[in-house]
Amino acid sequence: IEIDGVPMFEDDDTYRGMLFLIQDVSNIRRLERMRSEFVANVSHELKTPIAAVKGFAETLLSGGVQDEQTARSFLQIIYDESERLNRLIGDILELSKIESKRSPLNFSPIHLHPFFDTIREMLNSSAAKKNITMNLNVPEELFMEADEDRLRQIFVNLISNAINYTQDGGKVTLDVKETMSPEGEERIQFDVSDTGMGIPRKDLPRIFERFYRVDKARSRSSGGTGLGLSIVKHLVELHHGIVTVESEVNIGTTFTVNLPLLQEDEGDF
Ligand code: ADP
Repeated sequence: IEIDGVPMFEDDDTYRGMLFLIQDVSNIRRLERMRSEFVANVSHELKTPIAAVKGFAETLLSGGVQDEQTARSFLQIIYDESERLNRLIGDILELSKIESKRSPLNFSPIHLHPFFDTIREMLNSSAAKKNITMNLNVPEELFMEADEDRLRQIFVNLISNAINYTQDGGKVTLDVKETMSPEGEERIQFDVSDTGMGIPRKDLPRIFERFYRVDKARSRSSGGTGLGLSIVKHLVELHHGIVTVESEVNIGTTFTVNLPLLQEDEGDF
């Protein structure tokens, strides 16, 4: 709580009393704290790849590397780290666009079967590299209303996480079905499950926070930015849906996304 006091005077300068303004600033302070934490996190996340790019470039420029193979491996690191910077900046911009509500959603009817065929094509090669079986079970004639680009981003993020955090030879499955809310509203439920490493119980409540990772090193080495799930959560909520997670270590993880079949208040957010 913040209290500000100002003395009050009559026209003839006689003292009348004090005027106090009492404000509950805990929310404002909390937002300020979150913002500065975010800026600190972003700077840290950006500094790591920049330091790598700079360090390896300097070594190459100094002419100290004679061996061609070593030089190439340094160039590969520089390339990979620039890619990471690219993804990181893309995710940060996306998140800030979503949060400032600057880019309104564009709802249109989506035929889910071909929609997921495209996603399968996008992710096939990363699944194949790890010999992971991808089963996308989508009913043939199912349509829903959503922002197609945003909907794609939700499932690309969830399915690529499932692939990233599953050992070679594992399984990633998507099940899509129609459901009904207790209020009688038609909804679609998507379950993305994997047979991967799972998420420890103590980490589950924080998994949707920006930059939160169970294992930073592993997330980095698989190209993660730590922002994927917080983008998912925001996008799901913009579609008036919910996303939940269940997981067991060394058994696997299931993310469930539940969205309305139709978007009622189109454009109203
Ligand atoms: P990242 O870019 O690190 O993957 P995300 O926001 O997408 O960031 O996910 C946050 C963290 O949640 C990951 O670093 C990982 O520890 C954990 N995680 C996400 N999806 C899965 C999954 N399917 N199985 C196990 N852990 C997961």
